[in-house]
Amino acid sequence: MDKLIYLDNAATTQVNPEVLDSMIPYFTQYYGNPSSIYTFAGNAKKAVDEARAVLAQSIGAKSDEIYFTGGGSESDNWALKATAEAYADKGKHIITTKIEHHAILHTAEYLEKNGFEVTYLDVDENGLVKLDELKEAIRPDTILVSIMAANNEIGTIEPLKEIGEITREKGVLFHTDAVQAFGHIPIDVDEMNIDMLSASGHKLEGPKGIGFLYIRKGIKIRSFIHGGAQERQRRAGTHNVPGIVGFGMAAKLALDDMEKRSKYESELRDHLIERVLNEIPHSRLNGDRIKRLPNNANFCFRFIEGESLLILLDQNGICASSGSACTSGSLDPSHVLLAIGLPHEIAHGSLRLTLSEQTTREDIDYTVDKIKEIVTRLRNMSPLYEDFIKKGSN
Ligand SMILES: *Cc1c(COP(=O)(O)O)cnc(C)c1O
Repeated sequence: MDKLIYLDNAATTQVNPEVLDSMIPYFTQYYGNPSSIYTFAGNAKKAVDEARAVLAQSIGAKSDEIYFTGGGSESDNWALKATAEAYADKGKHIITTKIEHHAILHTAEYLEKNGFEVTYLDVDENGLVKLDELKEAIRPDTILVSIMAANNEIGTIEPLKEIGEITREKGVLFHTDAVQAFGHIPIDVDEMNIDMLSASGHKLEGPKGIGFLYIRKGIKIRSFIHGGAQERQRRAGTHNVPGIVGFGMAAKLALDDMEKRSKYESELRDHLIERVLNEIPHSRLNGDRIKRLPNNANFCFRFIEGESLLILLDQNGICASSGSACTSGSLDPSHVLLAIGLPHEIAHGSLRLTLSEQTTREDIDYTVDKIKEIVTRLRNMSPLYEDFIKKGSN
């Protein structure tokens, strides 16, 4: 295959050339440590400050509420572990959902082993958190609610504003993992009453290994990485200056362009969804049809294994995923698909396609043609499918 069709933008994205250009001088020319005193380091410091201001503005925050981290996973770990530590005297109960990224779920499990109690909220069949269940779950000893802004597998966008109203009213902190949403849909921390927010550069055409945690002023959580005095003594370590500059540029481009890109991607996504559902029998769309990230489509095909489909798509130059890059290699079906109520045998046949601005209609048509071909081929080899056809039931 000479052409690569990359449809796994939820796993990571290609760095935008403008982003790369903005970063290069900070490797070779302005390589000073922004914490140094001399004038030469001033260029690096200024660039870090500017990126911080852009990122803060992009979520309606102030510059001194943005803390750079090594990515989304670190931000999620920090938000949960440090809140747990700082507020343990108020209570030891945390609320999250069954469909979070593993950076949240595994951190929550770690906290459970260390004396905290975690409630994992159910979601409805489209992956939406049920607000009345959230309300009921909040107790006097609840210290934190952590609910993702948009799901990385099925693309469902959670009702952040309504969640924020509930947590504010109950006096509980609200953290959101916005790694998948940041730069793709509008977010405003004041309007949505968000107290902490995780974001990561490489999901919006920025570099890998750079992220931030927004922490609302007044929240008393402490340093997660101990060492130097960087990030107002809350996150030690020499600044990743090129990464920070690139992240700032990626956010600027993503925000300037959001409406246009969102329209382009969602139209292409809808074309993809319609073709698959119309042309491939026994297929279903996972996630909410409307409250959905512009670039996400996630399907299940009955009577086939997602893994086999992925391998055959790969042989045709198509990069896709069965749900999450983090679960590939394990044979367990996605925890997200199980949480929306799919039985194991259906959840196994899942396929996630996530588009970018570079994706063309030809890419999508070619991909749908290949999926059709492969699904038919795999079903013809499947004893389950044979049984199903013989019985003539559905
Ligand atoms: C990718 C992702 C993460 C992890 O971010 P990294 O920067 O790769 O550590 C966390 N949460 C969600 C929802 C993600 O999609």
